[in-house]
Amino acid sequence: MPGRPFLQVPGPTNVPERILRAMAQPVLDHRGAEFAALTRELLDGLKRVFQTTAGTVVLFPGSGTAGWEAAIVNTLSSGDRVLAAVNGQFGTLFAQCAQALGMEVEEIAIPWGAAVSPAAIHERLAADRAHTIKAVLVVHNETSTGVTSDVAAVRAAMDAARHPALLLVDAVSSLGSIDFRFDEWGVDVAVCGSQKGLMLPPGTAILCVGPGALAAGERGGSPRYFLDWRPVIAQNRDGFFPYTPATSLLLGMREALHLLFEEGLARVFARHTRLAEGVRRAVRAWELPILCGDAQSHSPTLTAVVLPEGMDSGRLIAWAAAHLHLSLGAGLGKLRGRVFRIGHLGWLNEVEVLGVLGGVEIALNVAGLQVPPGSGVSACASWFLRSMRVTAGEGAQKS
Ligand code: PLP
Repeated sequence: MPGRPFLQVPGPTNVPERILRAMAQPVLDHRGAEFAALTRELLDGLKRVFQTTAGTVVLFPGSGTAGWEAAIVNTLSSGDRVLAAVNGQFGTLFAQCAQALGMEVEEIAIPWGAAVSPAAIHERLAADRAHTIKAVLVVHNETSTGVTSDVAAVRAAMDAARHPALLLVDAVSSLGSIDFRFDEWGVDVAVCGSQKGLMLPPGTAILCVGPGALAAGERGGSPRYFLDWRPVIAQNRDGFFPYTPATSLLLGMREALHLLFEEGLARVFARHTRLAEGVRRAVRAWELPILCGDAQSHSPTLTAVVLPEGMDSGRLIAWAAAHLHLSLGAGLGKLRGRVFRIGHLGWLNEVEVLGVLGGVEIALNVAGLQVPPGSGVSACASWFLRSMRVTAGEGAQKS
């Protein structure tokens, strides 16, 4: 199919040309001086993205799931009790991961489409006077539902309960796209992957580890070898790894960090907020419900759109992929078939979002929903026009 593919799943995201070119180089010697300098630059740059000075960044070849496992095996021991806030498929899987690794998982079940409740976490921790709960698991941005939770409020709830549990946060679909403040929010471990806001291909788990989590790992943790962060941190001091790192991807990561810092993190976050609002205005113009019901919790990185009863989102997604070269996110877990997700994160601009929405309008009509073609595009373009403070005609006036 001619033209560029529109990869609008909420990760993996479109990889910018500059990153692709940065990776297309001869493979580096991972024990050489050039590589050591690269490692140091990446770890420093990633600390800026996590907004931390206290945290230590750790990389493992793998994906976000490997990051969950690393966070758990380095801080918790079999039989430890953990409190998992579950408001979607990724919260469910994070909890499942802890359970599979031998933890006693207690879930706080939150409706899918709602944000994590700091009050519920406070209530449970306040009742745990013996401090049997060792960690709280939270997904910052639930990619299955398009909901962003307030991590600072979760930390405040934990502090108000005067509870020493560690705060383990999944930042897989937020880091590099949504403001994430590791130090300020008192996060103990944050987990991310390379393939979303960092605009890289899949292949690397990225963790940020605070002093409390490091100490917990020194005292205990679970049996671990490859995912043990201690030897990684030790060898990283000289710029090396105890295993063969994903060197080509790390070359791309340097370029990704350059892109983020050239634009400026604040502008990157503002762009995501602006694009997301445009998408939601389009969905409202189509008169379709957005799964996230609370205006405060709408995700800046993706929107989950609910289809009318009797329609199958899987078929719509398959048609758009086959005929428009447009990949949309499927409904996950219990949302299978009911929703489709529009990813609007990473290397993306206004014109591309308008193209995506135009494609979705065609696919919706083919699927049998008579949304007026152009209605969502028009609502979104009007928002961009306003939010970019461009008045009609201004762009063509002589200076
Ligand atoms: N957490 C969140 C919020 C995600 O969106 C994903 C994947 O989409 C994961 C975890 C799992 O990450 P991975 O697929 O990279 O293992």
